[in-house]
Amino acid sequence: MSELGGFEKPVIIVGGGAAGLSAALRLAESGVKVTLLEAGRFFGGRARSFKHSPTGMELDWGPHLFMAANPALRSLLERVGAADDIFFSPSLEVSYRIRESESTRRTQLSFPEGGGVFAQLQGLLKWHGPRFLEKINLLRGLSKIVSKSGDKNPDESMSDMLENLGQKDEAVRWFWEPFARAVLNLPLELGSAELFKAVIREAFADGPKGAALGVPMKALGTLWANRAAQRIRRLGGEVRLQQPAVGFEVNDSKITGVMVRERETLPAAAVISAVPPDALGRLLGSELGQQSLFSNLGKLRPGPIASAYCWLEEPDEGPPFEAIVGEEWDWLFRPETGVEGAENLVCLLAGAEDSIASEKRSIIESSARDCLNRMVPRNRIRDILVVRERAATWANGVAEQNYRLDTRTPIEGFFLAGDWTRTGLPATVEGAVRSGENAAQAVLDYTEASV
Ligand SMILES: Cc1cc2nc3c(=O)[nH]c(=O)nc-3n(C[C@H](O)[C@H](O)[C@H](O)COP(=O)(O)OP(=O)(O)OC[C@H]3O[C@@H](n4cnc5c(N)ncnc54)[C@H](O)[C@@H]3O)c2cc1C
Repeated sequence: MSELGGFEKPVIIVGGGAAGLSAALRLAESGVKVTLLEAGRFFGGRARSFKHSPTGMELDWGPHLFMAANPALRSLLERVGAADDIFFSPSLEVSYRIRESESTRRTQLSFPEGGGVFAQLQGLLKWHGPRFLEKINLLRGLSKIVSKSGDKNPDESMSDMLENLGQKDEAVRWFWEPFARAVLNLPLELGSAELFKAVIREAFADGPKGAALGVPMKALGTLWANRAAQRIRRLGGEVRLQQPAVGFEVNDSKITGVMVRERETLPAAAVISAVPPDALGRLLGSELGQQSLFSNLGKLRPGPIASAYCWLEEPDEGPPFEAIVGEEWDWLFRPETGVEGAENLVCLLAGAEDSIASEKRSIIESSARDCLNRMVPRNRIRDILVVRERAATWANGVAEQNYRLDTRTPIEGFFLAGDWTRTGLPATVEGAVRSGENAAQAVLDYTEASV
């Protein structure tokens, strides 16, 4: 046994997204020898960025928002020196663009910093949003969720939940629906209320400041993913890009290695799979995949997100992000790319299977043009780049909660991570980072037990 966590062979982590990088980092910080294998050309998985050659800008594979009450993600950012690169408003503040016929109007929801229900009421009353009685009802609904009254119904969908809470019309359209779609990336009738409530509870546990939304001040690759990979390297770990795993080597129900290209097998003391469920299915192959534990992987459904980066003729001023109501798009972002010309760039984002995100590229592009012509009518669109991710999120539906898998598996030394595993949270970066932390802890427990 070496000093490194009791193992001579490395712990292999397959997948360099938020789950894999957080697992590898935690293990490396604990003195365990790690090797991380990432199939793609970039670290960060779905929260990665890429170079847009025509402009030299580093763009995200779709813009991301985070929440102040994302403790695992914030700890990760702190440890890689990126804590100041996400801007969080002091409390929950959302700028809205509401479509009215052929134009849009702006309004802002802003909960005062600190304070309890009365402060929230004050914020809601100042909002030029839903009618007065709906605002009161909204606050009542929010308080019921936070206080857990009338709870525990794992079969409840978001639309059931809103009905049970007596939420209607404008409160649904302006508050619940944009939030639920951002959190679950599913239509209200499919999304799991239990997952949504878990997020609301964490967000509002200590007043509305935990619900403050954070926007990255840099492209995600530079902001966190490359820094996390570098830190793993500095701690003695190995991180490899463009190194896809193609299978696992299992002997007597114990994992012994990971097969990479050309049938080479890398010996492993333990393995963490941190890939999405479809990729895991392929890695397991026919023999392992037949085990009953994995038989429902195919029932976990992906949810799409489309992003339309639009370069305008003139700079467009406004907040870093705005929620959109009444259009085919959910959010407008003004991304930070760190390159000249970024002030002319905006990005529209739409998610969920019933949205424009499921359409053909040409339809998405023309919808983005129509929407922007209403939102920035005096500005000409110079260019549009559509980025589509078919599987932006996984397993946020009511029907899928029973199929999410735990960190530990019956195969000795084999652990699972990924936003789709059973974290109690929806598929988000926070959920993925926590799944990585869980898997790292499971490996550490395994190491101790094996020494
Ligand atoms: C456009 C978009 C917008 C989003 N917005 C938000 C948001 O605002 N807030 C939020 O919290 N979340 C958001 N998400 C979701 C969030 O990005 C994901 O939940 C999270 O990044 C998932 O991390 P993961 O590590 O579980 O999986 P992934 O990021 O998918 O990482 C898995 C990695 O494994 C690699 N891999 C696959 N197969 C192999 C193999 N055989 N060998 C080696 N490597 C392999 C993949 O290349 C990938 O890098 C968004 C996602 C998208 C796409």
